[in-house]
Amino acid sequence: MKVSYPHMGYLNIPVNNMFNNLGIEVIETPPITKKTIELGSFYSPEGVCLPYKINIGNFLESIERGADTLINVCGAGKCRLGFYNAVQKIELEKRKNLTFYNIDTNNLFRSLYSFLRESVPHVSRLEIVKSIAMAVQTLKALDAVSSAKNLYGARLDNPEEIIKIYSSALKDFTECRSFNDINKTKKEAVELIEKVGKQSKRKPARIGLIGEFYILLEPYVNHMIEEVLIKQGIEVKKFVYTGDWAYSNTLLSSLGLYNEEKEYLDQAKPYMNYHVGGDGLKSVGSALWCARNNFDGIIHVYPFGCMPEVVAQYALKNLVNDYNMPLLSLSIDEHSSDVGIMTRIEAFADCIKRKNS
Ligand code: SF4
Repeated sequence: MKVSYPHMGYLNIPVNNMFNNLGIEVIETPPITKKTIELGSFYSPEGVCLPYKINIGNFLESIERGADTLINVCGAGKCRLGFYNAVQKIELEKRKNLTFYNIDTNNLFRSLYSFLRESVPHVSRLEIVKSIAMAVQTLKALDAVSSAKNLYGARLDNPEEIIKIYSSALKDFTECRSFNDINKTKKEAVELIEKVGKQSKRKPARIGLIGEFYILLEPYVNHMIEEVLIKQGIEVKKFVYTGDWAYSNTLLSSLGLYNEEKEYLDQAKPYMNYHVGGDGLKSVGSALWCARNNFDGIIHVYPFGCMPEVVAQYALKNLVNDYNMPLLSLSIDEHSSDVGIMTRIEAFADCIKRKNS
């Protein structure tokens, strides 16, 4: 069994560690490039959302490298993620005999646990649960380092210094084999970022980065938006993190202590009163939080044609009018050019800084 799964930000670090610990052979999906997007777009229905196209591009590249077992996520939410797996299966099965596993986002822990039990029946249940817990812990640690980079990076004249610490921490996490390793790596990286960042007394303008999960988490696809903003001297607060999401939807929700939909429904009122699928509700709830906490602007990033985010956009327009907040909406698809996106981000950052000075 040679397992592969699509790229999404730093998700590959804990997932590879988990599979390696359990003795599952992984065929690493090559990093996303223009070729991945072209390949995926060629074999996808034209109107489908960008994450679908990139996922299928990832799978095609992994199949070329020998993968025979593909893992994808699916969910019963009101968006196209619910049918990704079924449609991709029809397309990919034309190539070779493949095994597909779907991790159900509505039953994340149970779904992942069943897959691992089936793949490595000789490994004890305790060892499997421990491996899942370590993966979640690593994701949470990566999120903490990423948040520290976004918080302190913009304060420096040379933000590259903090970006380098972050990149080197990502490498260190690939070597973590125990909870102690994870905590130590996180502590060292966050402390170093804080130490460097606190040398400056600058108070940068703050932007809330909201939008669709996949686009926010995959730097190649969002045109490295976080680093572009940091280099522009803008502090970034992101509202989507894989670790938080995985922790809430595995441990907390299985104990009945967390209900994502209710959480964001409360936060998004009165601008949105219903779950509209995907991350639409969360986008509105997060934007409202930014508005109430005196942020200087909001950037809303989403794939072209993403229904939940298009619905959220109407609520966002009302919200930013009421709070007089600058809003930049970036709709991204396979034709988006780096220069076009970059120019819009830089122009927005300039306006925010001027307003703030
Ligand atoms: S949230 Fe939007 S982009 Fe993401 S899977 Fe659903 S429809 Fe597609």
